[in-house]
Amino acid sequence: MATTPRAARPQRTHKGYVRIWDKAQKRYVMEHVMVWESLHGPVPPGHDIHHLNGVKTDNRPENLALVDRVTHKRLHSGCLLVEGVWWKPCRMCGELKRVDEGFYTRGDGSVLPWCKVCSVARSVANRRKARQKTKARRAAWEARHGGDRPENEGER
Ligand SMILES: [Zn+2]
Ligand SMILES: [Zn+2]
Repeated sequence: MATTPRAARPQRTHKGYVRIWDKAQKRYVMEHVMVWESLHGPVPPGHDIHHLNGVKTDNRPENLALVDRVTHKRLHSGCLLVEGVWWKPCRMCGELKRVDEGFYTRGDGSVLPWCKVCSVARSVANRRKARQKTKARRAAWEARHGGDRPENEGER
């Protein structure tokens, strides 16, 4: 049995992808990118290769698809593309809603994990929490200073 040099063995990355040693480039490359590029040429900038069946080690050509980075992010955040419309489950209420109507989008095209309704509920809750913190801080200060206001300090 021929021994394989250590560097030539495929590796598994921490994200679950397969890396293989590229003799020509003398460095490790992602196997799924290698497979796709060997058939279609270089991956265009701003694009990724996605595993259609979700199995990151299944690098058969038919399992690999070229997607732009925004689409790729959506695919990995649980979005579904149905007849040209993106749907996504809200991380808070769990409801499946249209991305274009039910969610707020950030400037870079990524979508918030919670729906508009939950986003509003969250910001209200955050504001309430901040108010409670200010109140608690004031109460603590007053307890320490016997209710004196700062401008009375030093008056004897
Ligand atoms: Zn992917
Ligand atoms: Zn929600």
